[in-house]
Amino acid sequence: MERISTICPFCGCGCGMHLMVESGRIIGVEPSPGHPVNKGMLCAKGWGAYEFVHSPDRLTHPLIRKDGQLQESTWDEALELICGRLTGISARYGPDALGFLCSAKVTNEENYLFMKMARAAFKTNNIDHCARL
Ligand code: SF4
Repeated sequence: MERISTICPFCGCGCGMHLMVESGRIIGVEPSPGHPVNKGMLCAKGWGAYEFVHSPDRLTHPLIRKDGQLQESTWDEALELICGRLTGISARYGPDALGFLCSAKVTNEENYLFMKMARAAFKTNNIDHCARL
């Protein structure tokens, strides 16, 4: 079994942890004892932070509802649809008809880019973060 050092992906605290990997699969986590943020501890979410990785319920493709059914699509098709809907709503009702919600489960850099997209590309300050919901 290998121990791979990483950061918990579940919130912005950034607790250090080791993924326990066997035969290419993550089978558990343990807190990083010397990490300055969590000092050898994890919260309840952190102990299960690896479970989604191999979950059969995990979405691996974008889904688009067609004829009332969710159907797998390509990223190009999904992004084109989203972009078309957002620009259409903005053109019809104004940019403040849009709202953007980001996530604590992505990096600071991704949150920053999301904010820039909302403000610079879509001209709205309606942006918030799941930590405040
Ligand atoms: S272990 Fe808990 S507090 Fe630490 S980063 Fe993960 S979710 Fe956040």
